[in-house]
Amino acid sequence: MMLLRVLGAAGEVTGSNYLVEVGQSRVLIDVGLHQGKDEDRRNREPFPFEPASIDAVLLTHAHLDHTGRVPLLVRQGFKGKVWATTPTVELVGVLWSDSAHIMKEEAEWRNRKNKRRGLPPVEPLYEEADVEKALDYLEPLSYDDVFEIAPGVKVRFRDAGHILGSAVIELWAKDDGRQVKIVFSGDLGPQRTVMERNPAFIEEADYVIIESTYGDREHRSNEETRLEFRQIMEQALKDRSKVMIPTFVVDRAQRVLYELMLLQKEGVLKDNVPIYFDSPMGVRATEIYRRHLPLLSAEIQKQIKNGRDPFAPHQLHFVDGVDESRAINGVRHAVVLAGSGMANGGRIVHHLKHNIWDEKSHVVFVGYQAQGTLGRRLVEGDKLLRIAGEEVAVKSQLHTVNGFSAHADRTDLLAWATNFANGPMFLVTHGEPRSATALASALEERGYRAVVPRLGEEFQLISAERGFERALVVPAFGFSDREEAEGLLSEVASLAVAMSEEMTGDIASVLPLFLSAKTLLETAGERLGLPGKEREKVTAGKG
Ligand SMILES: [Zn+2]
Ligand SMILES: [Zn+2]
Repeated sequence: MMLLRVLGAAGEVTGSNYLVEVGQSRVLIDVGLHQGKDEDRRNREPFPFEPASIDAVLLTHAHLDHTGRVPLLVRQGFKGKVWATTPTVELVGVLWSDSAHIMKEEAEWRNRKNKRRGLPPVEPLYEEADVEKALDYLEPLSYDDVFEIAPGVKVRFRDAGHILGSAVIELWAKDDGRQVKIVFSGDLGPQRTVMERNPAFIEEADYVIIESTYGDREHRSNEETRLEFRQIMEQALKDRSKVMIPTFVVDRAQRVLYELMLLQKEGVLKDNVPIYFDSPMGVRATEIYRRHLPLLSAEIQKQIKNGRDPFAPHQLHFVDGVDESRAINGVRHAVVLAGSGMANGGRIVHHLKHNIWDEKSHVVFVGYQAQGTLGRRLVEGDKLLRIAGEEVAVKSQLHTVNGFSAHADRTDLLAWATNFANGPMFLVTHGEPRSATALASALEERGYRAVVPRLGEEFQLISAERGFERALVVPAFGFSDREEAEGLLSEVASLAVAMSEEMTGDIASVLPLFLSAKTLLETAGERLGLPGKEREKVTAGKG
């Protein structure tokens, strides 16, 4: 009997975590942090398995939403090996330390508040010591070779083209003498990558766990994105002031350094304008990228062959110390790259604070800005912001480049998925309900079987020749009624939004259905004793 449990990234993007059980072996694929809404509570939830009972962990890539709870797993008694490609092993060393550091600061901040309110202190999720211990369990492996990672379980890591070291994992295990093959896509890069090698094509599997971050959306082409970035930079540099680029310091920052190098080649960015990469963590990440140049794209290889360092535009200053970082305030005209990518922490915050009151300054966003972050508030046009304890008027000119994504879009996902020639079953994860559902239906239209698993769902896996079986629905892994309810409500909400945006066909015939759905929700609200004010709104809505 072979079982797969989906313990994270079901109907959402973060918190990737899958458990495969076969014979006596128990293997986890990714142990990611939950990020965004309710992250702290969710990350503190006990694992729905005994950490000491796990034989091995496989990591698809270094991003924290795939690896960030490994130190916690180790802290709670896991003693097996954590398998990952060599660059992933190196990158998690950087990311886990940073994560422990942020957790420590957050706990200290919260404890100062709690003390004043007479509340008990909180502990960080894990500490640097746990990170050190976790690093000892890492076991680097090479791409494209087969390894036996637990009795009866073999794996092969293939390039996923997402970030340096990212992998699609092929996993083979024996179920009652028959071999079952599962493929975990991890996060997939686009079909036409810029930085990484193209994602490996895989043709055979019984089951494919596929990500769906952009299952319902297309990106702009590389050419369009470059043109957009060039035009923005041309405009920004004219003001001869600060051009600030908040960026994730692993992968996205290296991409931006590369694009700046190209802009210098074209003469858009003058060689004498200083570029500050203000992030000690970014410096370490760039070193790791440089150590593994042969793993990068053909385009990057070409630059190297022509004698160019892809991550070293002229006048690039890696900034390490805090004093050096502060000294940038005194420089009038410069390009400043710093984390975090959403400006919700990191050194970019002080650069924003010191410059966004200046109408000649520019901020160039090169990634998604999540709700509740300083970046999002800027993008949404807030004119007065409180930054690091001070009110600052926003006069800066703001720009957004959306196309630097390291993710496959809908067309890319389908191109990758339709390489499977033997008709596997797809489990669509790592996407908001809307993207996951959209990708699943697109796969079904192409003749594949596809399901969008729910959090905690368990599947019995059998080899393709014997068909597919969804064994059990197990919502009992410590998910409370409230979490169940929240999950359902968010599905209802996103369904409603999707429908109101894309209504076609015979609307009159479904109106009664909508009306009864509304009535049912109102009844549920009454039973929960919804506060009077809300009730008035509901009744008023009835007209
Ligand atoms: Zn990722
Ligand atoms: Zn991811």
